[in-house]
Amino acid sequence: MKTIGLIGGMSWQSTQAYYRLLNEGINARLGGLHSAEILLASLDFAPLEALQHAGDWDGAAAALIRAARRLEAGGADFFLIGSNTMHRVADTVAGAVDIPLLHIADAAGDALARDGVRRAGLLGTAFTMELDFYRERLAGSYGIDVVVPELHDRQMLHDIIFQELCAGNFDADSREVLLAIIDRLGAHSIDGIILGCTELDLLIQPRDLEPALYDTTAIHAARAVESALEGA
Ligand code: GLU
Repeated sequence: MKTIGLIGGMSWQSTQAYYRLLNEGINARLGGLHSAEILLASLDFAPLEALQHAGDWDGAAAALIRAARRLEAGGADFFLIGSNTMHRVADTVAGAVDIPLLHIADAAGDALARDGVRRAGLLGTAFTMELDFYRERLAGSYGIDVVVPELHDRQMLHDIIFQELCAGNFDADSREVLLAIIDRLGAHSIDGIILGCTELDLLIQPRDLEPALYDTTAIHAARAVESALEGA
């Protein structure tokens, strides 16, 4: 089995889910007392979040490069960045180490393409919904047309993610807000919705809704399990 490197702490609420999903995934495949071999570099999210909101992506990349090098030095065979947003600097971070990065948008794009989804709604932080890095990867590599909520909905979602979910607060009212945003997005003739923030599945589960919800945390972790067992 290969050793999975995980850059976590972005936020640690979703890193817990990654840890569980990676171990459950390996155990489902290998049975018995098998569990995943994982190296975790868990970062302090407060300074990173400040860098994101200041638009200092070089500073954010530097923090992730340090973490990726620690994972590489520790013997990880490949690594994950446990945040959609931080994939804004994925190419820079991947270029600084020799172990491969398993990109979250590739895992999501493959899952959508496999199901024949051509037009998908994207929910996440304002960075993920509004900057090009995520949408262009889905469009360019997978031919998926991405639709995002309107401005007010994007702002509400962004605030729920940073002020509540990343702080570990899961509020029933916020769940209703999220459901309403999903409902409005559904009017755009989409055949799937990407939960493009690794904390969103803490508020809403894919089985709850139509159109199909694609939970990037679960999809990313499942892909990592496959990679860890390749050639094993
Ligand atoms: N985990 C989140 C994501 O998937 C948001 C936290 C962050 O900004 O890194 O985008």
